[in-house]
Amino acid sequence: MATVEQKSVEATQNGGADGRTFAVDNPATGEHIIRLPDMDAGRVRELVARAREAQKAWAEQSFDDRAAVMYRARQWMVDNRERIAKTVMEENGKTREDAMLADVFTTADALGFWAKKASVYLADERVRSHSPFVIGRKLIVRYRPRGVVGVIGPWNYPIANCFGDAIPALMAGNSVVLKPSEVTPISSLLMEEGMRAAGLPEDVMLVATGTGETGAALIDEVDMVMFTGSTRTGKKIMGRASETLTPVSLELGGKDPMIVLRDADLERAANTAVYWGMANGGQICMSVERVYVEEPVYDEFVAKVIEKTRALRQGKPEGPGSVEVGAVTFAPQVEIIERHIRDAVDKGAQVQLGGKVADGPGRYFQPTVLTDVDHSMQIMTEETFGPTLPIMKVRDEHEALRYANDSRYGLNSSVFTRDLEKGERIARQLTAGSACVNDAVMNYAATELPFGGTGESGIGYRHGAAGIQKYCEVQALMVTRFAPKKDTFMFPYAPARSRLVERLSVLLYGRVPRKYRDR
Ligand code: NDP
Repeated sequence: MATVEQKSVEATQNGGADGRTFAVDNPATGEHIIRLPDMDAGRVRELVARAREAQKAWAEQSFDDRAAVMYRARQWMVDNRERIAKTVMEENGKTREDAMLADVFTTADALGFWAKKASVYLADERVRSHSPFVIGRKLIVRYRPRGVVGVIGPWNYPIANCFGDAIPALMAGNSVVLKPSEVTPISSLLMEEGMRAAGLPEDVMLVATGTGETGAALIDEVDMVMFTGSTRTGKKIMGRASETLTPVSLELGGKDPMIVLRDADLERAANTAVYWGMANGGQICMSVERVYVEEPVYDEFVAKVIEKTRALRQGKPEGPGSVEVGAVTFAPQVEIIERHIRDAVDKGAQVQLGGKVADGPGRYFQPTVLTDVDHSMQIMTEETFGPTLPIMKVRDEHEALRYANDSRYGLNSSVFTRDLEKGERIARQLTAGSACVNDAVMNYAATELPFGGTGESGIGYRHGAAGIQKYCEVQALMVTRFAPKKDTFMFPYAPARSRLVERLSVLLYGRVPRKYRDR
């Protein structure tokens, strides 16, 4: 088995099938790291064919056999955590804590979770039917793997959002071809190496390095696409998949609101806003992207947020505790952040802190706090995906809710109040796939809870039963044990039997149940 380092040498020398390669750079230093093959459609087809062949034997293994591989992979991740975290930090520019906690250990946790839960979520379900016509039949819902799953992932969490989605797909008995972002592909190659070390059979998980075109080619070949990335690309993915009626699961962008009510613990709310607005440099699909604060506590909240944001250290990520905010991973993102801030300032927003590209070498954007913002501004309506916190004053909870729901996205959301009943009531009215009371983002750690977006934030769920059942075809089985020679309704039709069937049907369907008669 070639290591990532060997692959890089091979790639530099040979490139993809037609010799094309692409560069991977370190955004925190600007240094060049590696060149990797830019795989074309032919190369992708070849990988999928190998994965398809390998899938048959993999699907025949028991859940326990597959789980053993996942637990060994978990141990491999922990043993190799320094190497993995260093790789993630180098190609993404994030802090050591973001790499270690959110990529290494979140994925290690997912390996154990799916190893344990796959057999539970995918167990045959015995069903009892309401229909008198199928009395005595054995009814079963069963889940079987789709075949080859194409996982296409983004650059913000090079392991958790790329390899992470391969885990339930593999536990369900699929093989996987993983297409990481061209910005951060090395981490996926490292996980391919780790899975082999853990005993995953040859070709059950393969990595297709390349650009967007490599991802597009993958869609044509696989039996399902699991995509994490921007809403814009998600729409393209769905369009392309519609050509072959290939099912898709889409985890897309977000513009997640936080509501702070007048009775909130302002210290906790401010800490949460600053942490989940700035962690991973704000490059989290469900980071706190906009905040609505009730008038009486607005000034105090803003002051706390400014003070805490000012204390953040930014720069080249080094050892534990070195900096809080790392680099902007993807170069074009700087332009988006600048455009949103410029647009807001032009329309009357105040930059309380930051607001500019920070000094290099490397690519950084200052942690930024904005006030006097409103919904005419892109910073309140478009995904910024940077270290920005726009804070808006609202009259009351109704206005907060109205603004929070004024979005084409709907991924995560949060409300802060000491009144838990009120908090839950408001959370239930937020049009987002997830809503937290006195928390943000941490719902993601409860892998039992489904995670997914409404509106333009996506289709389908990650986590929970739905997070693995989506990687399966559902097969409905009916086994008729006590079978008469002929069912009552079968040919030839006879007046008496037809009338009997009709009378029985009238008895069944011809009245409103007592409970509903007076409603
Ligand atoms: P992109 O949509 O730009 O890219 C995602 C992946 O799709 C990359 O591997 C990319 O390849 C590939 N790709 C690009 N074009 C195509 C195409 N036409 N067909 C197939 N694949 C293609 O997203 P980013 O990498 O910029 O990631 C940031 C986005 O991801 C943000 O919007 C964020 O909110 C979202 N996200 C959502 C999450 C969720 O769970 N809902 C979690 C994390 C991020 P390449 O990079 O090589 O161009």
